Amino acid sequence: MKNKRYGLFKGFGNAMTFGRSNARVYVKAQTGKTFADVAGQDEEKEALAEIVDFLHSPGKYAEIGALLPKGVLLVGPPGTGKTLLAKAVAGEADVPFFSISGSEFVEMFVGVGAAKVRELFRQAAEKAPCIVFIDEIDTIGKKREGQSGSSDEREQTLNQLLSEMDGFDGKNGVVILAATNRPESLDPALLRPGRFDRRIPVELPDLAGREAILRVHGAGVRLSGDIDFKAAARATAGASGAELANIINEAALTAVRNGRIAVTNTDIEESIEVVIAGYQRKNAVISQKEKEIIAYHEIGHALVAAMQQESAPVHKITIIPRTTGALGYTMQIDENERFLVSKEEALAKIAVLTGGRSAEELVFGTCTTGAANDIEQATKLARAMVTRYGMSESFDMMSLEKAGNRYLGGEAFLMCSDETAAKVDEEIRCIIKSAHKKAMSILTENKEKLHELAAFLIERETITGNEFMEILGRKTAPAA
Ligand code: ADP
Ligand code: MG
Ligand code: ZN
Repeated sequence: MKNKRYGLFKGFGNAMTFGRSNARVYVKAQTGKTFADVAGQDEEKEALAEIVDFLHSPGKYAEIGALLPKGVLLVGPPGTGKTLLAKAVAGEADVPFFSISGSEFVEMFVGVGAAKVRELFRQAAEKAPCIVFIDEIDTIGKKREGQSGSSDEREQTLNQLLSEMDGFDGKNGVVILAATNRPESLDPALLRPGRFDRRIPVELPDLAGREAILRVHGAGVRLSGDIDFKAAARATAGASGAELANIINEAALTAVRNGRIAVTNTDIEESIEVVIAGYQRKNAVISQKEKEIIAYHEIGHALVAAMQQESAPVHKITIIPRTTGALGYTMQIDENERFLVSKEEALAKIAVLTGGRSAEELVFGTCTTGAANDIEQATKLARAMVTRYGMSESFDMMSLEKAGNRYLGGEAFLMCSDETAAKVDEEIRCIIKSAHKKAMSILTENKEKLHELAAFLIERETITGNEFMEILGRKTAPAA
């Protein structure tokens, strides 16, 4: 993802020669961002406030003899506001902001990247106090060993960066910020004391954080009074700041499309679904038979969820097809933010995932390709239970897997013998099989409700959680 560049001007004219940096200069406050633009992320802002203070009054620190870290590394998943935070630091500190993306360093010709680094630091030293921001630093800062081919250029660039960082002392007021979502791939040399020795995790926002971000972006569009930001935040667990910003924008676009002058709560609800599942495919033609299968499938998920204490309440079920290829989906929303998942809850979740297919089997006596995604998710969760969470009988608390990238959802690697791997597969099979059986028995016991709810869904195409619970013969959802 390329960063939008704010208030860019090339302070160095067109006189740039080959091999010189074209690092853009950001004159003070032109990033236009301050900490007020960054919602939530209080710990991150607190950690960065010290940097801002240092840039304001370096003398205060010099007097005591305190050295500030030269380099601060912002680490976290994509879209959590790392670039935004760096811009906000520059805005708050009111100092020049030199920004470059790691990928810009990586040129075709050996030596160009290194020359760019040299030039960047030369300019920065002239303008100190100032901030140098290196986005996507992993593109130049990858571990050096075991690389082949075109790593020469990157290695030279990295070496130049290391020597530049060693070359200036912490007193002259150049602070280097860098951002990455691949911290595990960074060369350890970069992380040594005196280089990027301070690391600030920028995590996905929690419930309160999501609400704050929605409000910040909501303030930028015209709203029609009755927006329930809290509910929107609850429905978007796991969403990044960028996705939340996108939800508000999608809602505004929907309002315009429908010829309204303000965004309503319904627009926001619809836009959450767009971001989760894609746009509605209004003109998709689905045969009655398929529509029935899809409806039973989704009600299957929802019924299994509703009949298990450990499942989150059903919020909405729909069988309006989406542009992403989803034919229907069941939204469950937890009342509160969850940080831990118990074994019982994980098993219940797997049973819910198998509920769609179970309904198809029970009602139509056959199965379809519609469960592919459910199968993938159920297997992933069951595997994690066995290999990472120590939730299986046979392996107890033995770690069997090494996690890949935490932030990008990279593949994990099995760390065990082939025989163990085969046993792991067997454990996973058993977990899924017994969950499937459980789902089957729940649906068999509630077959009448299954028919009743499916008929309702086929007619209306959407059921809210309340309607669902009412048909199920209860007024309120079971305590989750
Ligand atoms: P990253 O660099 O971590 O991938 P960005 O800083 O580029 O993420 O964030 C992309 C956009 O998402 C921002 O421009 C902003 O609109 C929105 N965003 C992300 N986090 C926040 C936040 N904490 N508060 C407000 N907006 C945010
Ligand atoms: Mg970024
Ligand atoms: Zn399904």
